[in-house]
Amino acid sequence: MADPTVPADSTSSYPLSALADKLFERMGVDGVYARTAIYVDLLERLEHYITRQRDRNAEVMRFPPVMSRGQLEKSGYLKSFPNLLGCVCALHGTEASIRSAVELAESGGNWTALLSSSDLVLSPAACYPLYPIVAQRGPLPRGGLTFDIEADVFRHEPSLSLDRLQSFRMREFVRVGVPDEIVEFRETWMARAPVLAAELALPHTLEIANDPFFGRVGQVMAVSQRQQELKFELLIPYYPHAAPTACMSFNYHREHFGQTWGIRDERGGVAHTSCIAFGIDRLAVALFANHGLNFKNWPSVARQALAL
Ligand code: AMP
Ligand code: ZN
Repeated sequence: MADPTVPADSTSSYPLSALADKLFERMGVDGVYARTAIYVDLLERLEHYITRQRDRNAEVMRFPPVMSRGQLEKSGYLKSFPNLLGCVCALHGTEASIRSAVELAESGGNWTALLSSSDLVLSPAACYPLYPIVAQRGPLPRGGLTFDIEADVFRHEPSLSLDRLQSFRMREFVRVGVPDEIVEFRETWMARAPVLAAELALPHTLEIANDPFFGRVGQVMAVSQRQQELKFELLIPYYPHAAPTACMSFNYHREHFGQTWGIRDERGGVAHTSCIAFGIDRLAVALFANHGLNFKNWPSVARQALAL
């Protein structure tokens, strides 16, 4: 994903800094923001717009921002993106040992050294907790399953760029089924996404992409992912001549999750999966960056789509 970079000398000359002041309140950590009223208003309208696009048979599920550490480990996340993961830690043990951590904090010591990991991680994408739930239900019904899911997710990638948050909202349409259904699902969405972007009056391109796999082995994984065309992204520039930002992704996982969780399709084969991810915060910022802060001045197609 390209990153509209922040000039090293002055954040105030960053083209989006005026916008940032209206949309977000700082919370003391880069990439973690409180959303203001105007932003929340737009977010809700955008969510409604996306709801109107979903498959009629889609099953709706909303996830909390945390998930099982064991499930994420089993999904293979640590092999691919260990640097992005946030793990929930807590003070375990006796009253005395917990009290000693508090005393250490009060005396200015490093109390966090006494933390140990819990059973939870911060979800790094909305769809990881879905596959074990699907697997529990047994073999897939005819026609497979479609879901509309969402979570506030976390990725440890602190940045001053408005399009690279550490905590952000991810909405996904997920399909689980036989390989042909999955391929068709993703192709349909890759054809529809530019239509949606046009309805929102956003400049856009659809391009082949790769995930930011960790380290040198990761580079090999990225090349293979591109060769197999497993990921595409819808890119939107935030302002004229800006490097465009990936605001939606179209992912084909092949049999990865079906194999990991033992999901069988209607023919008894290993189920394939695909997810279409809407970066809700990136889309919201893209709308404000392209159309401004006054909804009255937005292009009429976008106002119509978002019921403004
Ligand atoms: P990915 O799983 O990396 O394809 O992410 C799904 C979608 O989430 C992307 O298409 C982006 O729109 C959004 N996204 C990914 N990383 C970030 C981030 N650091 N800040 C905000 N949105 C993000
Ligand atoms: Zn996903």
